[in-house]
Amino acid sequence: MTGCLAIVGLGPGAEELQTPQARAALEQATDLLGYTTYLNRVPAKPGQNRHGSDNREEIARARSALEIAYTGKHVAIVSSGDPGVFAMAAAVFEAIDNGEPAWREIDVTVIPGISAMFAAASRLGAPLGHDFCAISLSDNLKPWETVIRRLEAAASADFVIALYNPISKARPWQLGAAFDLLRSIRAPQTPVIFATAVSRADEQIEIADLASADPARADMRTLVMIGSSATRLVPRPNGEPWVYTPRSVEAPVS
Ligand code: SAH
Repeated sequence: MTGCLAIVGLGPGAEELQTPQARAALEQATDLLGYTTYLNRVPAKPGQNRHGSDNREEIARARSALEIAYTGKHVAIVSSGDPGVFAMAAAVFEAIDNGEPAWREIDVTVIPGISAMFAAASRLGAPLGHDFCAISLSDNLKPWETVIRRLEAAASADFVIALYNPISKARPWQLGAAFDLLRSIRAPQTPVIFATAVSRADEQIEIADLASADPARADMRTLVMIGSSATRLVPRPNGEPWVYTPRSVEAPVS
């Protein structure tokens, strides 16, 4: 008997930012898999098997989720935010692509979640109101030269840029190098947003400018957003400005 596998987005942290579809999939699961830190966000349910693992074991985790599902179980594999954004969904499809042909019979569902960039944007106003892109700054799965090339292209094309995985203990200098590159292309007053642990108890949001943005402000739970040339701050009496990117861009002066 072939079972099913739900790849579930848990959202950025707060329970109310999780979808009812995600909650239902988690409740119906016989087996839950995920990075232990994320799995701990799912309330324990008697009779449900929980398989926590380290965050660098995505492919092994995806393969065991498929093996368990193939035995007829209802498996849920969890990701923070949206599972399709730098997360488990691609790992599962990679495992299917390179794995047992029989795994293609498994009923796989991807359940979306609110990605960190959307949760962060909602706290600020509308910084993603016009064209934007998302780049993972991690060079674990791609060469650093590729990261640099993409950043350069995105900055030159004047996208708002959402940077995921900005920094970690093993990758301490990359964000500083990214800021240096951006400073060579974008104006010093370009808004830079550090949104840490959005929707969790220790949420912190800080607005800086590119000239003074300090990479030390970011940690592994930070989404860094770099504005486009059109991104604006709207001052407010409480000192916390709104940030938005207008919906239209003027034709270039030629
Ligand atoms: N699938 C996730 C992203 C996983 S990559 C999503 O869609 O959000 C992990 C990175 O996501 C972190 O390094 C950080 O940059 C960002 N992130 C995840 N949760 C966050 C949160 N609550 N607040 C800010 N950034 C977050």
